[in-house]
Amino acid sequence: MSQSQVVTRIAPSPTGYMHIGTARTALFSWLYARGRGGKFLMRIEDTDRERSTPEATDAILRGFEWLGIDYDGEAISQFERADRHRDVALEMLANGKAYKCFSTQDEIQAFRDAASAEKKSTLFQSPWRDASEDTHPDAPYVVRLKMPRDGTTEIHDEVQGKVKWKNNTLDDMICLRSDGTPTYMLAVVVDDYDMGVTHVIRGDDHLANAGRQSHIYHAMGWDLPTYAHIPLIHGPDGKKLSKRHGATGVEEYQAMGYVAAGMRNYLARLGWSHGDDEFFTDEQAREWFGTDGIGKSPARLDFKKLDNICGQHIAATEDAALLQEIKAFVAASDDRDLTADQLDAILPALYCLKTSSKKLGDLLDKAHFALTQRPIERDEKSQGMLDDVSRRILNELTPQLQNVTWDRNTLEETVSGLATAHDLKLGKLVGPLRAALAGRAPTPSVFDMMLVLGRDETIARLDDAAR
Ligand code: GLU
Repeated sequence: MSQSQVVTRIAPSPTGYMHIGTARTALFSWLYARGRGGKFLMRIEDTDRERSTPEATDAILRGFEWLGIDYDGEAISQFERADRHRDVALEMLANGKAYKCFSTQDEIQAFRDAASAEKKSTLFQSPWRDASEDTHPDAPYVVRLKMPRDGTTEIHDEVQGKVKWKNNTLDDMICLRSDGTPTYMLAVVVDDYDMGVTHVIRGDDHLANAGRQSHIYHAMGWDLPTYAHIPLIHGPDGKKLSKRHGATGVEEYQAMGYVAAGMRNYLARLGWSHGDDEFFTDEQAREWFGTDGIGKSPARLDFKKLDNICGQHIAATEDAALLQEIKAFVAASDDRDLTADQLDAILPALYCLKTSSKKLGDLLDKAHFALTQRPIERDEKSQGMLDDVSRRILNELTPQLQNVTWDRNTLEETVSGLATAHDLKLGKLVGPLRAALAGRAPTPSVFDMMLVLGRDETIARLDDAAR
């Protein structure tokens, strides 16, 4: 690995579903690396054994697969690296950068109570920080980092700029617990260092951690990565995104029928911009993406925009690839009972279905006419369209359709001619035709349906309806 190669990572905690914010952080990190010939790595932060589950890890990896965000090498388990984390803690201990603290929970509480009574800072200051080894009892201890007590800690962040903390607000953080397990704060730093991570892009809920974590880098004599802490995603009402706003999990977006390319495009725009560009390809995003385009204030989730962008991506997807996505969508969905073979029937209709659908579900609703077979089941509204007058007109239409050229212009002319002959607007014939051909709405235009169904099937459906 060359010294200058960019390495980014995503470090999800497998404690639930995959949050849309994780997807966005991953996307930013992925675009950043991929646009610079770098690597994008996956680390599963499963140190918290109580809360981490293999199912949650699977859900996260499945989410990335669906989103089309690929990572280099194998996903790394943070938990499996605990020995290495411990070694680093012991090294800091040996170098005098960390110390063994024997204070019990009760003693810490007593310290805080006393400080509070004296109106002093309740930040715990361990009496063991400078104690010599020979005073150490044979008792359980934690390993704490010796943080500076005076002055300020400062980091440069690509998004937030210069960020400072007063050192008297930072406690001597625990790196190893009394059972010898590493803390999250230590594990993150050691893993990022060992994985060669050059750029840490993550949610700004971790900004304060960065200040504290910088001291582990200093203690080990390691270079800090470049940080970019991005504002969290907010709901349409401007409040931090939560379940209350509806979908927060990636799987929910998949189930709603959004396409992955559209999600990538929309998520990239959520907190980052490149001029006024709204619709773009992965290739463009890779080329354009940089931390300079990341905004300082939280981006709001806007479903209308998401719909719009996804619709444009559906329209831009090649038919064969789109059909594969539709099949995967249907296979993962509980309420659409269609086989892959049945779905092949919509391939010839995709040209007209894909230009007006925002989600795959919308597209499938409109595809009904191509998936259904005679006798066409009609809903009440469609049935109502087929009154005596309309049936008579359909009866006149069928013989005319027998001999015409089967192209859009001729079909439009034929149907318009019939409408004129009856002194009707063309629109008046559309309802009965749709009822005859599909039995329900929504559908593509009646002419597209005729073209897709072909002459024989069209005439057969019109005959059925005219009876
Ligand atoms: N595991 C942390 C999270 O899921 C991410 C930590 C990091 O990116 O440094 O929020």
